[in-house]
Amino acid sequence: MQIPCVRVAREDGERTRERLAERDLLDHDHEITVVDGWLYAPVVDPDAVPEKYTIEERDVPTRETQTMPADLLGFDPSYERLGDIVLLREDDHERARRIADAVMDSSIPVKTVLNRASKIEGEFRTREWDVLAGESTETIHREYGCAFALDVAEVYFSPRLATERHRVIQQAAADERIVDMFAGVGPFAIPFAGRGADVIAVDRNPVAIEYLRENARRNDVAERIEAIEGDVREVATGIEGGADRIVMNLPHSADAFLDTAIDLAGEECVLHYYDIQHEDDPYGPGERAIRVAAEGYEVSVETKHTVRSYAPHELNVCLDVRLRA
Ligand code: SAM
Repeated sequence: MQIPCVRVAREDGERTRERLAERDLLDHDHEITVVDGWLYAPVVDPDAVPEKYTIEERDVPTRETQTMPADLLGFDPSYERLGDIVLLREDDHERARRIADAVMDSSIPVKTVLNRASKIEGEFRTREWDVLAGESTETIHREYGCAFALDVAEVYFSPRLATERHRVIQQAAADERIVDMFAGVGPFAIPFAGRGADVIAVDRNPVAIEYLRENARRNDVAERIEAIEGDVREVATGIEGGADRIVMNLPHSADAFLDTAIDLAGEECVLHYYDIQHEDDPYGPGERAIRVAAEGYEVSVETKHTVRSYAPHELNVCLDVRLRA
């Protein structure tokens, strides 16, 4: 099977391996190989590899020491990894339990296995979990070189959105003034600050704000992040306006917060507006709502991006919109 590998000169191999390991990008299921003076390091997410590296698809050997859940189950279960927690999405409790046992007996470094027990609910956008193995729902998850402490039972966090967050974060320049209106534990705010931006991060969930502050310290960006707990509509009056960039990641109801976003926007501002809409017209409702709220601004939609399929016929999308007063 062809596996994406980072190709570097052999003498740069150890340094590169360390860089990739720091970002959790190494594919531990396959061997690092050396051929004709080149070292090939298999990676799990080629899109997340810094641009300076060359990616090449190679036929590399599987690591024989690894026992994966599929080896023990006889089928390939679907799961997500969040730090040292494995997240399942199984309706059949018995099947979930079998998978959890196999995950714990496999070579995956894991301390807890959780299965979804509810939809994402409430204003904090959290869900309930069945704890199938282990105890703690708290972990440290690494994404693109940042580390996020979080309790998956208390706050919203989706590892699946890593690539989308990276797409948006890469657009920010140093010295920008950014407001993250629904910041969670900081997966946008902290990397923005890491790029040199000054960030105001708001969330209504006090536990999320506590983790956000901890994560800002953990990633050495505390001096560039102001974390504010509260309903963004209420706390916005105390925030000095003039934002260069605003992130609105509350997809089911962001339209209700557009007036607040416009109050926070500067003379020129990029809005990242997340929405969930029917596939027949996924961008129209958001664009129309933004044009109504941003009266007095010239509105140009720079990107219409489908993040993922959310439910049958429903898409999670993002509009990157530039507003000019
Ligand atoms: N941006 C984070 C991320 O990508 O992981 C979190 C996004 S989550 C979908 C939405 C967040 O908005 C939740 O953490 C929730 O607590 C927060 N929230 C909901 N209503 C809010 C409000 N009125 N004001 C501020 N935050 C709010």
